[in-house]
Amino acid sequence: MSGVVSNGIAGCLLGSCMTGTGSGCKSAPLTGRKQLLLLPESQEIAMGQQEFGKILKEEPLSQDQRLTNMVQRVGTRLAVVAGKPSYQWDFRLIRSETPNAFCLPGGKVAVYDGILPVCQTEAGLAVVMSHEISHAIARHGGERMSQKMGVNAAQTVVDYAFSGTSGATQGMVRSAYGAASQYGVILPYSRKHESEADLMGIQLMAKAGYDPSEAPRFWGRFGLIATSSAEKPPEWLSTHPSDQRRAMDLAAVLPAASMVYETNPARYGLGEPIS
Ligand SMILES: [Zn+2]
Repeated sequence: MSGVVSNGIAGCLLGSCMTGTGSGCKSAPLTGRKQLLLLPESQEIAMGQQEFGKILKEEPLSQDQRLTNMVQRVGTRLAVVAGKPSYQWDFRLIRSETPNAFCLPGGKVAVYDGILPVCQTEAGLAVVMSHEISHAIARHGGERMSQKMGVNAAQTVVDYAFSGTSGATQGMVRSAYGAASQYGVILPYSRKHESEADLMGIQLMAKAGYDPSEAPRFWGRFGLIATSSAEKPPEWLSTHPSDQRRAMDLAAVLPAASMVYETNPARYGLGEPIS
């Protein structure tokens, strides 16, 4: 195990990844960007599943059946086009004023109902969920865990992860995927990860049948609350800066996503309104 992992890391650091199929070195879906990943995806999925179970014991679910159904409907449509047969998808609506959402490895998705007013419609919700799902399927959290632990700690990470008992893995996946709500340290996603999740997310929502032109509008609304709020919750307010660059990036990819949407036999437009 250590030999395989070390070779992968060395390959990645030396820029000599040839196929991206080694244990330590992969390519992000869609963009093909090279990634350093120390844990096998199966292990990330196991960690995601375990943490999601704990989160569901700590956080109250929304009692609003219509909105809960909406989260599940949007999630199911995105899952169908996400191309991750190894995921066991689960979509939950959590009652919390915090405007947050996350997707843990393995397809464990939570939306906090505090973000719904910004979404306004089912398509706005699809922007949020497709963005988070993209972070997960591109394994951005796995990359962050790998970077955080460092190359020398590679074997230690693997040992920790497989022992399943070490305090070092406690909350690691939550922190890496923006799910560490009121506790724990949040590792902000990099600009690179954000751009990739935006690009993948807008494609996913179009494939799922939601009008992708809602994406720039959603980020515009989100930018307003992000700058007016004193509170800085994980992922969604502290690490999703709304700037002109993001708007320009989205505008650049919108025509391709709109083409996907227009040729999609199932088109839901903006879907149902939220309130
Ligand atoms: Zn993000």
